[in-house]
Amino acid sequence: MPSLTRTLVTLEFDDGHRSQMLAVPLLARRAMHATFFVNSDRIGEEGYLSWPHLRELHATGHEVGGHSLGHDDLRKLDPAALTRAIEDDREALRGQGFPCVSFAYPYGWLDGGVREAVREAGYQSARVIHGLTDTTTLVPPGRGGIPGGILRRIDRPVLELERRAHEPRAVRSLSRASDDRGKLRIRAATAPAAVRRRILVCASLGEFAETVPPRDRYATRTVEHVMRWTTVLDLQRRVTAAERRGGWVQIVFHYIAGESAFAVRPATLAAFLDWLRARAPGGTEVKTVAEVIGDR
Ligand SMILES: [Zn+2]
Repeated sequence: MPSLTRTLVTLEFDDGHRSQMLAVPLLARRAMHATFFVNSDRIGEEGYLSWPHLRELHATGHEVGGHSLGHDDLRKLDPAALTRAIEDDREALRGQGFPCVSFAYPYGWLDGGVREAVREAGYQSARVIHGLTDTTTLVPPGRGGIPGGILRRIDRPVLELERRAHEPRAVRSLSRASDDRGKLRIRAATAPAAVRRRILVCASLGEFAETVPPRDRYATRTVEHVMRWTTVLDLQRRVTAAERRGGWVQIVFHYIAGESAFAVRPATLAAFLDWLRARAPGGTEVKTVAEVIGDR
């Protein structure tokens, strides 16, 4: 019988970037397995994983999941193209001997038709890239996090809680400009202290983990993907926040090393994995998506 406060962590690598092979020895050294969501049309192209890479991943206990043929916004495809993008991708992966039971929506975007097509294709679960409270909101503004320590990103759900529960005027007074991810950027240095305190209080009301089993298997929730400026402490906080009540934390990576804003530094990843391994005796386990979904 699983304990109520058990925490499951899944390390996920999206889009089949070749640099993700840098994670393999780091994971192997710590006896951890991850889930790799790939676009089968891109496999073998320059900069992407090859079929032999994927076979090696599968053979060594990692999971290979589907992410559609070519990473289109699936909401924009006509019904025939939508079916092809999901089913042909899954068939290509299954043709290599991968069970391919887990899906991740490209960009995390879906609508009712996309969700249904994924379910129809035989997938057991599908992941979005939103829905949980970002623990960076737990950090007092101006400390740690984004270089410079001035800008902090506050999730809309937290601000919504704040708006409803506390000081609507103070929240409105925060300087706000939606960035390209629809997040609000707050200049912490100028945020009223009372609001900063409230944000911390509200953050404690947030949801930091997906339920096990997930509330909706075809829209399993995460916070935003790991970015270049994500620190080891940011990653640790996602886990420790979830550990308070237990649940499932999916951590989404793209590139490893390199200059992309979506690249995690190898040292950050290695330090996080070491820290994560040390949590195991306390009941925090690293599992693939298929293992979590199959866990009842
Ligand atoms: Zn993607």
